Amino acid sequence: MKILLTSFYDLGKQPKIIAEIVDKYKSENIEFDIVDFSIDNPEINIDQYDVLGIYAPMHTATVLSIEFLKNKSLPKKVFTFGLYGSVLEDFNSSIKHISNIENGELDSFLDINKNKLFSLKNNIPNRDILPDISNYAHLVNGSSNLIAGSVETTYGCKHSCTHCPIPISFNGNFKTYSLEKILLDVENQVNSGAMHISFNDPDFFNGPIHALKILENLNTKFPEVTYDSTIKVEHIIKYEKYFKELSSLNMIFVISAFETTNDEVLTILEKNHSSDDLSNAIEISQTNNIDIRPTWMPFSPWTNQKDLIDIIKLIENYKLRETVDPIQLTIKLLIPKNSLILQRSEIKGYLKDYDKNSLSYMWDYKNEEVNILQVSLFNYLLDTPDLDEHSQYLGMVKIIENMTQSNLISDLNYSYKNVPKLSETWFCCAEPSQIQLDRIKTNTALI
Ligand code: SF4
Repeated sequence: MKILLTSFYDLGKQPKIIAEIVDKYKSENIEFDIVDFSIDNPEINIDQYDVLGIYAPMHTATVLSIEFLKNKSLPKKVFTFGLYGSVLEDFNSSIKHISNIENGELDSFLDINKNKLFSLKNNIPNRDILPDISNYAHLVNGSSNLIAGSVETTYGCKHSCTHCPIPISFNGNFKTYSLEKILLDVENQVNSGAMHISFNDPDFFNGPIHALKILENLNTKFPEVTYDSTIKVEHIIKYEKYFKELSSLNMIFVISAFETTNDEVLTILEKNHSSDDLSNAIEISQTNNIDIRPTWMPFSPWTNQKDLIDIIKLIENYKLRETVDPIQLTIKLLIPKNSLILQRSEIKGYLKDYDKNSLSYMWDYKNEEVNILQVSLFNYLLDTPDLDEHSQYLGMVKIIENMTQSNLISDLNYSYKNVPKLSETWFCCAEPSQIQLDRIKTNTALI
């Protein structure tokens, strides 16, 4: 049996899950080929395969995979896996969505037995069968450019933020990976040149004691390696005592989904944090010398122009210009099929039809002038690809100031610094623009 496993985009990371699937079914009778279209674009003769597997971890990857599938004759068996697998199955009913690669779903679909010793919790993924790690995201800091690897201590999430695709699949549950798996997986990546590791857990502090134990072990074994992770605002505050330990263990930055300063919207998104909590989380991170990189989703049906003013004020007050990617200030709510936000009464009146091409529901703004602001900010970014990020940020603030008759920049002598960040800063819960799609297809996003 010949199986082709494909990945289209996984946020600048090696598609590790593909290595896990190969490990699960590896046998003399099965030949696997792997293509990651985010870094390679080979001519493929799909006719030669008995099975095609498509990794659909997030919206952008799914949009790209649909483009790939157009006008192709497919093998009899096509399956998809990952958070957006059900969306892809919806798009093309001949594709089977495997919701869980741990149970027997895929065994039955392929009609083969898994290797008896395989367990997702303990398996050390054989990354040698994936494209080399140097092709993926790097840690950049001024002129320094280091290979970055990635690992998870857990999968799933115990929260149910209404805009997030993860609870649609995991329903408030998460599982842990074993310490041995993570240590050996990181060791393999360090041996391949990684000097920085991103923890890709949806939230590193879903299981803070487990996470810290792993980080302590890694730090002892690889004291020169640095780390980043994603931690929600609620957990930064709740687990401040654990957060304090991160800096001494080489955690150099933490990504945190702030979304907005609008408390009404934060309630609808069920983020379990308020606008006041944002300041608290920033202060905790700054006190502990860990850069905080807020992600934003400023635009949703309920956005007011004032929200953008408040976001910029927060960035200015805490000197966060370096840790906010300009594209973040343009992000709109994405509503995929089965999104939890469809269950919120507040969405009624704004929700429009499902758009099969963008794989999301359309929606209206309460305030039309907010739409004009979002489009202006976004078009500005489209028109200024050659500007550096600081200049882009200042240009965007100028647009907000002009449209809201406000004055937001008080520090005219801001000293902009280089800070460490990943070369790939796209993220899952947003609709990709043509800029992102073009960057991903040409691999200019990554290195
Ligand atoms: S946004 Fe973060 S914390 Fe909320 S459900 Fe998604 S992964 Fe979990």
